[in-house]
Amino acid sequence: MIPRKIVNTPTFETLQDNFSGRIFVSGDNQYDIERRVHNGMINRHPAAIVQCISNADVVDALDFAMNNGLEISIRGGGHNVAGRAVADDGLMIDLSQCKGMWVDPVNRRIRAQAGLTWAEFNRETQIHGLATTGGAVSSTGIAGLTLGGGFGYLMGKYGYTIDNLLSAEMVRLNGDVVNASETENQDLFWALRGGGGNFGVVTALEYQLHPVGPTIQGGLIAYPYQDARNMLTFFRHQSVELEDEFTVVAALTHARDGSGDKLAAMLACHCGDSQRANQDIDKLKSFGTPVIDAMGELAYNELNQLLDPGVPKLDRYYWKSCFVDHFCDDVISLLLERFSNSPSQKSKFFIEHFHGAILRKKSSDTAFPHRSAGYSILMIAQWEHESENEENILWAKETFDLLQPYTRDGAYSNYMDDDDYSMRTQQAFGENYSRLQTVKNQYDPENRLHRNLNIRPCIK
Ligand SMILES: Cc1cc2nc3c(=O)[nH]c(=O)nc-3n(C[C@H](O)[C@H](O)[C@H](O)COP(=O)(O)OP(=O)(O)OC[C@H]3O[C@@H](n4cnc5c(N)ncnc54)[C@H](O)[C@@H]3O)c2cc1C
Repeated sequence: MIPRKIVNTPTFETLQDNFSGRIFVSGDNQYDIERRVHNGMINRHPAAIVQCISNADVVDALDFAMNNGLEISIRGGGHNVAGRAVADDGLMIDLSQCKGMWVDPVNRRIRAQAGLTWAEFNRETQIHGLATTGGAVSSTGIAGLTLGGGFGYLMGKYGYTIDNLLSAEMVRLNGDVVNASETENQDLFWALRGGGGNFGVVTALEYQLHPVGPTIQGGLIAYPYQDARNMLTFFRHQSVELEDEFTVVAALTHARDGSGDKLAAMLACHCGDSQRANQDIDKLKSFGTPVIDAMGELAYNELNQLLDPGVPKLDRYYWKSCFVDHFCDDVISLLLERFSNSPSQKSKFFIEHFHGAILRKKSSDTAFPHRSAGYSILMIAQWEHESENEENILWAKETFDLLQPYTRDGAYSNYMDDDDYSMRTQQAFGENYSRLQTVKNQYDPENRLHRNLNIRPCIK
């Protein structure tokens, strides 16, 4: 193990004085637990983890970081695969204990603090049979996912998560607490819908909710790998006909029964009326003979947790992703060939389809610009042991490179790994980048918040 360099860390006692949350530094019992994020590849040692539970905590934490020249990282749910939530020797502003939420069932709205996960959020909204577009894995944080855009099972009907964001409360680097919405700080509101943690620490998010659940039609159906080509072709035909209420995701994955068997699968969510939902699900299930059939009526919360066991915390992950206009035969062949040679029995490909509500906004309406029909291909290399790092990372990178002739311009910041952060900023923001720079200039001209898909302030 390489010895870590000794740095002059400031004493945190002054910060501790009035702090409501907890502060962990190296040597504290829980430090080694709290510093870890979802991806086991990330093993960094911050100078301190400050678990804020109020806006005043965030104000003090930012003030402390600014005065002591500490690098700032912000943690919501800790799912960012590149591990941007934690920096060696930095101050981790950890919002994971901010769990308050208030549902207004009459106006179908929720105000939610930034440390919630989608499991916690949905548990509360589902009491009222309400939901909004959120992450497909329930342990993902609402804050990072929302600020990056937000793909999910409800996006055909209700758009990306950002399309349902009504307002956000943010602590600025200077300690001011501001609100951003269509009527207040409009430029900031625009920028927060895709621009991530570039502007300040978001402490609360207000969303529009919609009638969904408590039960819906959907779930998972999986087929033997020999049927994979036909299933992916079937998925392509189905996906171009989907009504807004119906979202279908295709996957190449591995059985979780220890056999390591490769499988082709479809995940679905229908949030429309039950008769139509039954018909659409029956049509989807008309393909082939499944080896796993968990598709039918199920609780929306159950759907949200279906994938959780397959992506445990502290497994090792390396992600690549791209957009394609057409899920053509050549792309299918390439994915099949690459998946057959996956070095790990945990890796997966997910193919998400874009249709419906997300396409009805303009690219310039939100900082997140990607609103064309087509598909996202997410390549998840996942393994357990350090000795397997190299081959798995290489496998994902090579798959991504081989897909390049078929991809369109664009990148999703929430699906990026480290290398992408330095190379794909322009692809992620497209023509919205210069407007984002203007907002960055206003809120963070010195680029103190750079542990994100970084928008560089423009030098005047
Ligand atoms: C298993 C898994 C499943 C996923 N599924 C989906 C999915 O279905 N759909 C989808 O769109 N994405 C999905 N993602 C990607 C996910 O959107 C990103 O990883 C996102 O960054 C997670 O947010 P977080 O709060 O958990 O992450 P964190 O690692 O805590 O935060 C990531 C970054 O977001 C910024 N940030 C977080 N909170 C705040 C805040 N309060 N204020 C300011 N900035 C903040 C910071 O820059 C931070 O470094 C998934 C990721 C994983 C690992």
